[in-house]
Amino acid sequence: MYDDGSHIYGQVHKLLSSLIDFSNELDINLLNSNRIIDIYVKLFKNLELLQVAKNKLLRYHILMYKFMANHENYNEYKHDIYSYKSFIRSRQLTRKANIDRIRCAIASHKIAIGHINENYGVRCSNQKCRFSSRLEVFLKTNKCPKCGSLLNIIENPKSVSRIDIIKYLPYSGNYLDVVTKFNPYQRWAYSEILRLLKLEERKVFTSASIILKIIENGRAIRKRIKVELERKDFRLCEEKITELFGQNARIEKIMWHKSKPILINDKYVRQSLAIAYVRFADVLLSKYNITIKDIYKEFPIYLISYDLSLFLLMKTEYERSTSIGPFPHMMSRPSINQIKKLTSVLKWSDVAIIASNLGICKQKLTQQSIVLKEIMEKLLKGSSSIFGIVSSTAIAAALVYLTSNLSLSHVSDMFNESIATVMNALTRLKIYGIEKYLTEEQRSKLNVVPEAESERAKLFLKKLMS
Ligand SMILES: [Zn+2]
Repeated sequence: MYDDGSHIYGQVHKLLSSLIDFSNELDINLLNSNRIIDIYVKLFKNLELLQVAKNKLLRYHILMYKFMANHENYNEYKHDIYSYKSFIRSRQLTRKANIDRIRCAIASHKIAIGHINENYGVRCSNQKCRFSSRLEVFLKTNKCPKCGSLLNIIENPKSVSRIDIIKYLPYSGNYLDVVTKFNPYQRWAYSEILRLLKLEERKVFTSASIILKIIENGRAIRKRIKVELERKDFRLCEEKITELFGQNARIEKIMWHKSKPILINDKYVRQSLAIAYVRFADVLLSKYNITIKDIYKEFPIYLISYDLSLFLLMKTEYERSTSIGPFPHMMSRPSINQIKKLTSVLKWSDVAIIASNLGICKQKLTQQSIVLKEIMEKLLKGSSSIFGIVSSTAIAAALVYLTSNLSLSHVSDMFNESIATVMNALTRLKIYGIEKYLTEEQRSKLNVVPEAESERAKLFLKKLMS
């Protein structure tokens, strides 16, 4: 108890220092080889060590605080303690800095794991076996758990992760060192990205804690539960309770909770992402000798908005909320308002052209397509069938087709879907009532059978007619 904690700090310091050069192992070419397994396993192991260290550090702080406050001579010492105020404050700052660093390191590891999860999968080499999984399986074994054959790594053709950014994450949590070394343009981009990833909404009712009386085995018992709600409504609570516990449950007390929805609800994830995108953009632009001031400032902001937009467009709400993806701690259902702000960056046409020419933003995204996707998802809440039958890529392609001036065959090529699938998605969208959100011109696109432009399309129409 009298321990000054220096050994814990020593351990943390050693661990974080050992991660400073980790990004050197992440050369993009290496990522295509089998080394990806080593890297993935290492990321997981380091993440575990970091989490243990963080918990130790936090527990130590709580213990120290309790020890101070409960000490029998606390009142006697109080005066002395206060006279050392500045000394204590400076120590607290160091502690805070340590905890910040470790949390930032944890966030960076999670982001990297999420990107790799999105980009790669595992399949059994035995074709009859059909076992597939995420890379996590390698934490336990490198043989197929079903049949014992070797496991193969496969790239996800529909990945929405920008895997190249993981080289630039601050794995040792040294975000302060990095940011202070940024030039003014980079710092501007950095803080704009932080603002974009925060995108707070005004406070809304999100949940209620309810104390219930239920009859169980003939005895009345009290139970405390939390329910998610969209507005403050007693009757909604009653309905939920009846649904969960039957008619015999009685509500004794309700406490309403408000919260502020934030796009990415973790400060350290926001910082790590912002750093990675700013550094990635810098390296890329220097490689192509692009030094135009405005482009340099806007490029990283555009890239991350594009990636977030693509993520929203291509993934279902379910996918976004269940798996560890490229954007950890992102809310699974952002408000239309948040989406509009986020996607307004897509309209920066100068940067958009450069990004498209460099081949790093292959799909042309429209602001309206992402807004529509979210509207449809909200509308169909509970009945996930639309995204179940038709793949979300096809839905994405159909939405881009409706809201841009690109032809159907162009859009199908861009999203790597067949024209038939995209047409099917269009029909689905029509059935589910998308028409009322479209202009006259866009509505007409829902019905027309397109003229064949590409060879692929001609072939398809020929098959259709025969
Ligand atoms: Zn197998």
